[in-house]
Amino acid sequence: MTDPATHAAHPAATESDLRPDVPFPTLPGGRRVLLASPRGYCAGVDRAVVAVEKVLEVHGAPVYVRKQIVHNTHVVATLTKAGAVFVDELDEVPDGAVVVFSAHGVSPAVRAAAVAKNLVTVDATCPLVTKVHQEAKRFAADDHDILLIGHHGHEEVEGTAGEAPDRTQLVDGADSIAAVQVRDPGKVVWLSQTTLSVDETMASVAALRGRFPELVDPPSDDICYATSNRQGAVKQIAPQADLVIVVGSANSSNSVRLVEVALEAGAGASHRVDSAAELDEAWLDGVTTVGVTSGASVPEVLVDQVRTWLAERGFGDVEEVTTASETLTFALPPELRRTLKQARDSAHRAVAG
Ligand code: SF4
Repeated sequence: MTDPATHAAHPAATESDLRPDVPFPTLPGGRRVLLASPRGYCAGVDRAVVAVEKVLEVHGAPVYVRKQIVHNTHVVATLTKAGAVFVDELDEVPDGAVVVFSAHGVSPAVRAAAVAKNLVTVDATCPLVTKVHQEAKRFAADDHDILLIGHHGHEEVEGTAGEAPDRTQLVDGADSIAAVQVRDPGKVVWLSQTTLSVDETMASVAALRGRFPELVDPPSDDICYATSNRQGAVKQIAPQADLVIVVGSANSSNSVRLVEVALEAGAGASHRVDSAAELDEAWLDGVTTVGVTSGASVPEVLVDQVRTWLAERGFGDVEEVTTASETLTFALPPELRRTLKQARDSAHRAVAG
């Protein structure tokens, strides 16, 4: 999955500066923070955010972005200030303009609309979402019915289902499992959104397999490494935590899932916040151990602010709990790499000339 032509890491805020010497006293009573690792930016989000920044550098503002580039309020606000214009659909984009497709992916119908409007497109779809699109195309071509486990209305699900709309049924909860109808029970495959709860998805698969014993599994996990790793880390800290704070936006599927996973794994309470400004002092009543994590679209600076808020209230003792190490990075979209190379070449020629 790695590509030798990887881009430089996005300059996410570092944690190492803060962790060993949090400059706030730990009050008596054993108050502590368990900091989940991995947390925050995944490779697909990093790539998508950097892609918009680079497109702005090369083309200048405005650069249009279809849907939120990633589901995080802070990231969208920062890029908006830099000149990105977020739109819901391509009919809001002037003909011939530059448009970036978000990390969640788009259907073939959206690509066709972009061609019809003569748009210059940069596709920031996460390669792990593209992988699921390829699976959908392949199984549809092989005449399978596709049972796509995911959340109704989520952009990623709309994009994936759009690859084979006549062959795909969305499975979103127990009622939809009961309602599934297939043409041939011997040719049925399940696929999924990348950011679901691993445990809930496996329960849905078991229920589907109860109805269709020959149900085919995807060739590899559709729930991505980042989603699984963040859930694994929060599962580790939740049983020891009176409270788990998840940093992430309300429309971030994987962030919302982290709250559910924390509660299922035994956290006394769990709350999702977009930023430290949403934290509530009352949540700390009677609490000695706070777990902290963040969704895959969350810049580390937002976690740092939560840690500072906690440290100011006596939770200065921080222990990082690491359950996996992540080194994956993705190359920028090839069309953007070509544009960047052309820009560099013409700058060299100008200097030489
Ligand atoms: Fe890609 Fe997973 Fe990140 Fe989504 S959460 S952008 S699928 S790596």
